[in-house]
Amino acid sequence: MVETRDIEKMIRSDLITFAGYSGGMAPEAIADKVEVPIEDIIKLNANENPYGCSPRVNKALANYAHLNIYPDDKQVRLRKLIAGYAGTKPECVIASNGGNQLIDMLIHLFVEPGDEVITCSPAFSMFRFSTELCRGKLIEVPRDENFKSSVDAVKAAISKKTKIILLDNPNNPSGNVTAQSDILKLLDLGLPLLVDEAYYEFYGQTVVPLVKQYRNLLVTRTFSKWAGLAGLRIGYGIFTPRIVNYLLAIKQPFNVNVAAQIAVEESLKDIDYLKNNVNAIIAERERLFKELSKFEYLKPFPSGANYILCFVQNGGKQLFQYLESKGIMIRYFDQPRLKDYVRISAGKPEQTDALIKALRIYGGK
Ligand SMILES: *Cc1c(COP(=O)(O)O)cnc(C)c1O
Repeated sequence: MVETRDIEKMIRSDLITFAGYSGGMAPEAIADKVEVPIEDIIKLNANENPYGCSPRVNKALANYAHLNIYPDDKQVRLRKLIAGYAGTKPECVIASNGGNQLIDMLIHLFVEPGDEVITCSPAFSMFRFSTELCRGKLIEVPRDENFKSSVDAVKAAISKKTKIILLDNPNNPSGNVTAQSDILKLLDLGLPLLVDEAYYEFYGQTVVPLVKQYRNLLVTRTFSKWAGLAGLRIGYGIFTPRIVNYLLAIKQPFNVNVAAQIAVEESLKDIDYLKNNVNAIIAERERLFKELSKFEYLKPFPSGANYILCFVQNGGKQLFQYLESKGIMIRYFDQPRLKDYVRISAGKPEQTDALIKALRIYGGK
């Protein structure tokens, strides 16, 4: 008989203690410990779109008759559609099973065991996940007290082993943005630079036009947030055609399923509807910021995305747990730098109202 532990001896030693990726929880995971029925849980922990996707997507998917046929592995039509939206050429585009998959592919493309990857921390947790899966080392350059990143500090962190610099802009979880002038300085360092624009539509500024000029610029985006397609998993990136070809070679076959391809097509036919929802979310983000600012025990940080990071005077985890017990899910990050912070997604106005009411009770008012 082969014992389980003999099998486990064969597992990569660096993965024995690997912690994995932890995203925002699903309502199902907390349903039995909250005071409200599951359908009344308010989910403000994963930056999802509270208005859902375009109704055109639901309709097209319900009527689609060819689920037995593989999707186009080369994404010919899809890349053309996305290029039109992003203002670039199809040969500069590749699509992925969520933006996360493309970030993972890029890190795999550059990072060998022992290589170093630089990011400005706190940043998107996917950066650590993929770097460590490649046996690379994540070098975390700390952001300042307002979460601003420093080009000089990044420069000082570069070593012979550095393969890529990772920047999400706006930054998740802090929400603040890096000025284009700083991105240009980072590009001038000459290393591959990933600018993750997952929240581009909520911010409105992009470095996509610079891809033509800077061969080291790598841009990723997603349909999860602005188009409300997080559940379908569809992301994309804009690169030089040469980088696209490398990525096409290493991607999983058929990585974007037909449902996601249809969803992109229908979403792009319904841009006005979706942009309207984006504008409502931006307005709600601003209202949420103002409302949070009124609490003495809270300090929200300005955000260019669809969420707000907030300092909590008497502890982030305590507030997170209190709201969870009331059926309001926000995000807490179990790491020293963010111990006293929570991240709250901008939802619908009535969700903000319920949150503010709970915050008043929590604060004793
Ligand atoms: C949400 C998010 C993504 C992409 O998410 P997908 O659902 O995988 O497309 C990428 N980067 C950041 C910073 C995000 O917050």
